[in-house]
Amino acid sequence: MTTTAVPDPDGYTLTGGKAWIACATTADVYCVIARTGEGAGPLGLSALLVPADTPGVRVEPVALTAPRPFAHLHFDGVRLPADALLGRAGGGFPIAMEVLDRFRMTVGAAALGFARRAADAALTHARRRRIYGGRLLDLATTRAALADVEVKLNAAALLVARAAWEADRDNGRYPRYSSAAKLYATEAAQEIVDTCVQLHGAAGLVSGSLPERLYRQIRSLRVYEGASEVQRAIIAGSLDVRRAEQSHDQYADVPEPLEDQRC
Ligand SMILES: Cc1cc2nc3c(=O)[nH]c(=O)nc-3n(C[C@H](O)[C@H](O)[C@H](O)COP(=O)(O)OP(=O)(O)OC[C@H]3O[C@@H](n4cnc5c(N)ncnc54)[C@H](O)[C@@H]3O)c2cc1C
Repeated sequence: MTTTAVPDPDGYTLTGGKAWIACATTADVYCVIARTGEGAGPLGLSALLVPADTPGVRVEPVALTAPRPFAHLHFDGVRLPADALLGRAGGGFPIAMEVLDRFRMTVGAAALGFARRAADAALTHARRRRIYGGRLLDLATTRAALADVEVKLNAAALLVARAAWEADRDNGRYPRYSSAAKLYATEAAQEIVDTCVQLHGAAGLVSGSLPERLYRQIRSLRVYEGASEVQRAIIAGSLDVRRAEQSHDQYADVPEPLEDQRC
């Protein structure tokens, strides 16, 4: 967070840059969190709306494994009016966190979409592919793989729906569910797409084929909007220790099993 927006009576001067920005080559307006200095650390950050055609804004497209409109943004003394401020001065950090909290479940939903596409392709291919005088679908290993895919799809869909439901209830507890949805759905989608490639055999590795394109598309979802490791850290930090202890202590008078009975 080294990008600065130095305030003056007419507005702000924005200097610095942002890396790996989604839709940066297509957006008309960027929301930029910059250091405005109202307080220390996160208390000194503000959210600013920056039209893409403002003088001093430079867009540097980045080519990823799967083509999408990503870019680095460079701000070279960009002049912004006072009303570019979104929310209050020094209030940018909660806005950034709220956006991340909400968007994580949507990344989970996107992963689910990729995974469903892969699952449909895998099942269709397994039915049509003739092998050993029968169908690929008739092999027990194929059926087991497709059963695992189905279970993962259902689990991911339910976690995404749970997160959206918690967000709609607006009780402030949804971020942990949003992280859980993002973590599980993106990891499961990666596995499902991999299964799709595997069941297609060599055909799934052909450049431009559906399995190959899904394989490249799905990978970045486990990194952006917070990598899987970061989601685990968030979930671990949100565990309800008080509820666990109360529940545990409720059964404190139940004798512990004898050592030799434990397994
Ligand atoms: C396709 C794409 C789109 C993006 N869009 C945007 C965007 O629109 N706006 C935006 O601001 N950013 C965007 N990003 C940036 C994205 O949020 C970061 O890439 C992501 O948070 C990981 O940060 P990093 O790349 O700096 O990797 P690093 O922070 O260097 O992390 C590298 C790896 O280290 C591990 N790691 C990192 N932190 C921890 C931790 N605390 N505990 C354990 N392990 C850890 C993880 O395995 C992680 O993948 C985008 C990135 C990509 C790839």
